[in-house]
Order: sequence, then structure tokens, then C-alpha cells
Amino acid sequence: QAKADGKNLCRFFNDQMNTLSKERFELITGLRSAIKRREFRLHYQPKISLASGKWIGAEALLRWQHPEKGLLAPGIFMDLAEETGLIIDIGKWVLQEACTQCRIWHDQGFDSLDIAVNLSSVQFSRGNLEREVKKALRKSGLDGHYLELELTESLLLGDAENVRTQVDKLRAHGISFSIDDFGTGYSNLSYLSKFDIESLKIDQSFVRKILNSEQDLNITIAIINFAKSLGLTTVAEGIEDAKIMAKLKALGCDLGQGYYWSKPLDAEAFTQQLQQNLSKCSADTSTSGATE
Ligand code: C2E
Ligand code: MG
Ligand code: MG
Ligand code: MG
Repeated sequence: QAKADGKNLCRFFNDQMNTLSKERFELITGLRSAIKRREFRLHYQPKISLASGKWIGAEALLRWQHPEKGLLAPGIFMDLAEETGLIIDIGKWVLQEACTQCRIWHDQGFDSLDIAVNLSSVQFSRGNLEREVKKALRKSGLDGHYLELELTESLLLGDAENVRTQVDKLRAHGISFSIDDFGTGYSNLSYLSKFDIESLKIDQSFVRKILNSEQDLNITIAIINFAKSLGLTTVAEGIEDAKIMAKLKALGCDLGQGYYWSKPLDAEAFTQQLQQNLSKCSADTSTSGATE
């Protein structure tokens, strides 16, 4: 009986592994051809000034329009793209597409809008990031001062020397850097003095709970004050309702992102919302001007 159980167990694991590797294999094959087949898309989520309500920038978020599975978020394929190194080519495309779209917005009159692009550590370790960024700026005609690159704490703690050299070169082109998901990574903050960083993005896991958990509220307050003392901008991620937004504004957080304003949108929908926000903000300023 024990022997038979063992055999069944073996078969069970083999089947599981076969399905897993089959799925992985299919995803990798799909990813390989996805660029050529133009299946990647960028969606854009606004970054909003909490003080004025103005949409001041957009974060580009990668999507894969899979021929059978539909629109896939990066959670489904990003690990594989990094493991296989395919993220290097995908990342080039993302940079180019994001800079091109931002330049289009500037040409349409939204001429102070920033664009933020997420980077993966593989792009630092195995790609030629400086060359790719310069190329994306040149081909799009976007000024580097409007481009922001989002890094994670683990990326900065990897091959710090190599990353620092590349960050410094890119800084010289006017590009700014932010730390994504801040607070979830490492407690060793020494990297903050080594890297020339513009802003900290407070992770959603804290933001979401500030009204219910004193712990998360205190962590959020600490991050905001800490960033202020270092002269860094704070961005709260994952704001889903007005109460949380108001609280963060009262705490002195600079910018916000989240479903409260908008989910990530395709370029066309984003442009429409941007236009509406601009009209609303200029209406606000003219009425407040009239009462003064
Ligand atoms: P991230 O950079 O921290 O992006 C924020 C994620 O939170 C996005 O998920 C966004 O859709 C989601 N989000 C924004 N506001 C809210 C909210 O109010 N509530 C909730 N529940 N979620 C919200 P998404 O688009 O699935 O991206 C996941 C992660 O994938 C990103 O996290 C980023 O680390 C990575 N990623 C996305 N695009 C790229 C890319 O082009 N290159 C690289 N290397 N990574 C990317
Ligand atoms: Mg990000
Ligand atoms: Mg800037
Ligand atoms: Mg984040």
C-alpha cells in the first residue's frame, strides 16, 4: 500500500510539474514573440498634487494583450520576463513608448506633464540603460527633465556600485529617480545617501491602512517626515478613497496615486481625463482668484 501511495504521489507531482513547465514554456514562447507581434501596451496612471488636485504626471504600467488570455497585468509575466532576460527588450520598448507618448502630451499642450517608467534590476545588470534612455529621448524629442525612473530598494542594494554609476550618468541628462514600494524592502537606509534620489513612493500596504491601524499611520508619518528632512518628495500609492486622500494631504504628503482618481488608462482615455482635470483646475483658480 505504501509503495502504491508513493507511486501515486510521484505521478501527482510529475503531472503538477508538467503543467507548470508547460505553462511557463508557453508564456516564454509568447513573450518572445510579443514584441514583434506588437502585443504590449502601456497604461497610464496619474500622479496628483494633493495640494492642488492637479494631474502633474503619469506612471507607465505595462500590459500584455495576449491573443488568447486577454489583457495581462505584469504580475502574470514579469518574473518570467526577468528570469529569461526578455525584460531587456521589453524595457527598451517601454522606455521608447512612454517617452513618445509623453512628448505627444506636451505637443497637445500638457507641456509640464512628467512620465514615470518602472525599471527592473536586470536592465541595470545586463542592459545598456544609459544608451537606451538617451535613444528613447532622442527619438521622441522629450526633454530628460520630464522622465522619472522608478527603482526598488532591492535593486539599489544589489550591485550598488554599478547601479550608482548608471544613475549618476542618467542624472546628468536631467532624469530623476524615485524609490517604489518604499518601506517594504530593507531597513538599511544607507543607500539613500549614496544615490541621488528625488522622491519616495510610500507603499500601498501602509497607505491603505492608515485610518485603521495606528502602526501603519505612524510608519506613514515617519516616512513623510523622514523624506522631508532629506528634501525628498513623497508620493502615496494606492489611495482608494477621499478620507485617506484627505488624511495624507493633512500629513503633508506631496503627491498621490490610486483608484480614488483613476485606474491605469490607455493613452486615449488618459488624455480625455487629463483635459477634464486641466479645465477643472483652471476653473478652480479663476473662481478663487475672483473671490480674493
Ligand atoms: P508599481 O510600480 O508599484 O505600480 C503600482 C501598481 O498598483 C500597479 O499595478 C497599479 O495598477 C496598482 N494600483 C494603483 N493604484 C491602485 C489602487 O488604488 N488600488 C490598488 N489595489 N492597486 C492600485 P500593475 O499595473 O499590475 O503593476 C504591478 C507592478 O509591475 C508595478 O508595481 C511594477 O513594479 C511592475 N511593472 C509595471 N510596469 C512595468 C514595466 O514597464 N517595467 C517593469 N520593470 N516593471 C513594471
Ligand atoms: Mg512604480
Ligand atoms: Mg523632474
Ligand atoms: Mg509601488
